Amino acid sequence: MFLFYIKNCTPRKYIIKQSTTYSSEQKHIPNISTNKIEFIQVNKMWRIKKTLLEDACLSAQNYYPKEFACLIGGDAKNKTVKEIIFIPSETSENSVSFLESSLPFDETIIGSLHSHPNASYRPSTQDTHFFRKYLINIILGYPYNPLNTGFYDENGKRIINVLIE
Ligand SMILES: [Zn+2]
Repeated sequence: MFLFYIKNCTPRKYIIKQSTTYSSEQKHIPNISTNKIEFIQVNKMWRIKKTLLEDACLSAQNYYPKEFACLIGGDAKNKTVKEIIFIPSETSENSVSFLESSLPFDETIIGSLHSHPNASYRPSTQDTHFFRKYLINIILGYPYNPLNTGFYDENGKRIINVLIE
């Protein structure tokens, strides 16, 4: 499957069946020249199940107004988020911390997730330091739904192409 977006526009994502070739005559695709279209293979994108993200949002709601945090397990090679891993943490209204010794060493742990009760899903300076440990880092901004969620790489750079399926 392929996904494309139109450069310099608000990203709009379309999944096209593998056998489908692009045609400017297709009704649901804007009639624009092909040099403005960039094709991205879906298997190079991060993928996360919608239900998993919704579960994380529910947990964040239960912790509100404190922050919620957990780790993420998955498959780094295939860029797939597979599970939420709950580990002991200290939470307050503006911070969350893990005991370094409680962090499991496991190569299937590829990411982190935490909530921001102040609605912003931008990472703080401390967040970006923490993010260096992991390939994918998710911030849920209040009121915690997939639309108010930010995805970041280990450098704190926003990951735009995430397939929530
Ligand atoms: Zn944060």
